[in-house]
Amino acid sequence: MELVFDGHNDVLLRLWRGEQGGGDAVREFSQGANHGHIDKLRAAEGGLAGGLCAIYIPSMSDFALTEPDAQGHYVTPLDAPLHRAQSLDIALDMASIALRLARAGAWRLCTSTADIRAAMEDGVFAAVMHMEGCEALDKDLSTLDIFYAAGLRSLGPVWSRNNIFGHGVPFAYPMSPDTGPGLTEAGFELVKACNRLGILVDLAHITEKGFWDVAKTSDQPLIASHSNAHALTPVARNLTDKQLDAIRESRGLVGLNYAVTMLRADGLDKAQTPISDMIRHIDYLVERVGIDCVALGSDFDGATIPEGITDASGNQNLVTALQDAGYRDDDLRKICRENWLRVLSSAWHE
Ligand code: ZN
Repeated sequence: MELVFDGHNDVLLRLWRGEQGGGDAVREFSQGANHGHIDKLRAAEGGLAGGLCAIYIPSMSDFALTEPDAQGHYVTPLDAPLHRAQSLDIALDMASIALRLARAGAWRLCTSTADIRAAMEDGVFAAVMHMEGCEALDKDLSTLDIFYAAGLRSLGPVWSRNNIFGHGVPFAYPMSPDTGPGLTEAGFELVKACNRLGILVDLAHITEKGFWDVAKTSDQPLIASHSNAHALTPVARNLTDKQLDAIRESRGLVGLNYAVTMLRADGLDKAQTPISDMIRHIDYLVERVGIDCVALGSDFDGATIPEGITDASGNQNLVTALQDAGYRDDDLRKICRENWLRVLSSAWHE
């Protein structure tokens, strides 16, 4: 079994929704669930040793991809910006779930790569607190200090939505990621604050303009935690060759997103998607950015994933497919965890 440290999941969102309906997050994560993708048992079964766990504020309207037209094209408009006070309430709830899971010993909340390695060694899920879209933060960033103190070590300024820090890309196919403006003045300040504090800046979900704004501002390697190759699946969320080249130059990282809409050539939301589509993207990314800059960013609990994976318990099916495709032990180690540990170490000033 090849242990995986994964760049993106939405398990906190699923657990938070469960608590909205009267559930108990610690019990659901520890004892397992028959829905969703990640819990302690299924993670252990699939060798999912840890990952970046997102605090994500759901849109007020239920998010749904729009149906494609006769040509298979679709555009899901950006959701309306969120209100800050409500976003902060939800973000605090999710941070609280992360802290309660840690206190109960259900997972370990890690703030250094030594923490991550120790947790993996001990067989405890190694969670890193991430914020996917910073609607909960204020422009003066006083809340950033609070979340940092609670363990936050990674953030994406925007989800596919606009906020006071920048502009997100819509879910649209086929479409270029160059869909609008990038960072705002507050967004540039946020990136600089992350550099100072040692918080990883994630480029998934930001417009192409925003990507270049971060590239010229940040002193970190360029990281897209859960994105794929636009050349293979021309959905606006995927990365162009030019973006991939910049990631390579900065010795950054792109994490393979298992979302079928970002893997399939036709961009459709169908679980009947072969694992070979995942390998096709990995092959392309490795060719373009090199074996040291490709990793995994499953989007477990946040997207429709291929039926051959099903949930965290099926994560090794991808590893096996990579082996069959000719990836050697050394390559697998890098893709599955070492590349993530390298860029986290760099962003965290270790
Ligand atoms: Zn996402």
